[in-house]
Amino acid sequence: MTNSKYSTKEALLELYNKPLLELVFEAATVHRQHHDPREVQMSSLLSIKTGGCPEDCGYCPQAARYHTDVEAHKLMTVDSVVEQAKNAKANGSSRLCMGAAWREVRDNRDFDQVIEMVQAVNDLDMEVCCTLGMMTEDQAKRLKNAGLFAYNHNLDSSREFYKDIISTREYDQRLETIDNARKAGISVCSGGIIGMGEAVEDRIGMLLSYMQMENPPESIPINALVAVEGTPLEEQKPIEQWEMIRMVATTRIAFPKSVVRLSAGRTKMSMEAQALCFLAGAGSIFAGDKLLTTPNPEFNEDKEMFDILGLIPKAPFESGEKPQSNPDPIIEEKKRKAAQREAELAAARGKRSVNPANGDFQPRKVTTVNE
Ligand code: SF4
Repeated sequence: MTNSKYSTKEALLELYNKPLLELVFEAATVHRQHHDPREVQMSSLLSIKTGGCPEDCGYCPQAARYHTDVEAHKLMTVDSVVEQAKNAKANGSSRLCMGAAWREVRDNRDFDQVIEMVQAVNDLDMEVCCTLGMMTEDQAKRLKNAGLFAYNHNLDSSREFYKDIISTREYDQRLETIDNARKAGISVCSGGIIGMGEAVEDRIGMLLSYMQMENPPESIPINALVAVEGTPLEEQKPIEQWEMIRMVATTRIAFPKSVVRLSAGRTKMSMEAQALCFLAGAGSIFAGDKLLTTPNPEFNEDKEMFDILGLIPKAPFESGEKPQSNPDPIIEEKKRKAAQREAELAAARGKRSVNPANGDFQPRKVTTVNE
């Protein structure tokens, strides 16, 4: 749902530039009409495959071409993801977002493993979100069938500014992936980053891109750049907290039903500034001491903040039904073929133990340790 009063760039700009307290008041009013203002979802972000990414996103320490402190790790096992998910759930998270530093999803064993992760985490009654790069409609359908609740793919900024930040893939390719998630019936999580050197018009330009979608994202994360040494944006000055509050409030008003997520950059925000973001309609935070590879407040600090502000962690699946986890046809077929191969091998071994001279069965010689 979009707010038709703010469907043009001019109207959105005027809204963004309103006197701050008026803007926050309007956002708080809209928020109360569509959401329970005490409820804030705690989500956890887990890097399931870290670093070594071939893309050149200027803000990202996981791009292989930049020299940062991020250590590359191959894809996590399903068991270790489940362990982390249980831990996040025990700490109040109702959503797990799994991120892999890939340019795009490939139809290989790693993707099969991600499908198994989605099934396993969905079975824990948590909302499962994935951010795996570009994907086709068929890949989106596999994820949906496995029980994926949401797919994250950010537009990051306006179409115009995007080119200054990323050159290895196009804005339209991002829109296509979002569309593929939609076509598969997956809820869309897509937002952006402020503080990358963009103008206010670019922030508004990004919101306008979402306005122009037939269905805007159900979830819109707003991140403040965490400038990481070794990336092209390492010298960027941190944004003012007021800018984050303005962006959250404007997004809330423009997309009344979407969940606005106060995402990266919270370590630089005071509790008071975060409180204003919640008042202005932020309905989710990422919890846990790490956001993929950048720092984030600890679970305990957030618990304390929730207590002081009287916030309640939101239960899972309030914004949509829990998806069913179904067996994956491709994995099932692979298992069937493997079992068949195994049976053929066993049969071949059996044949070898038949006396070729008379066809009589010859028991194979068993060697014991005493021989
Ligand atoms: S943001 Fe994603 S796609 Fe871009 S470099 Fe980082 S991991 Fe790769």
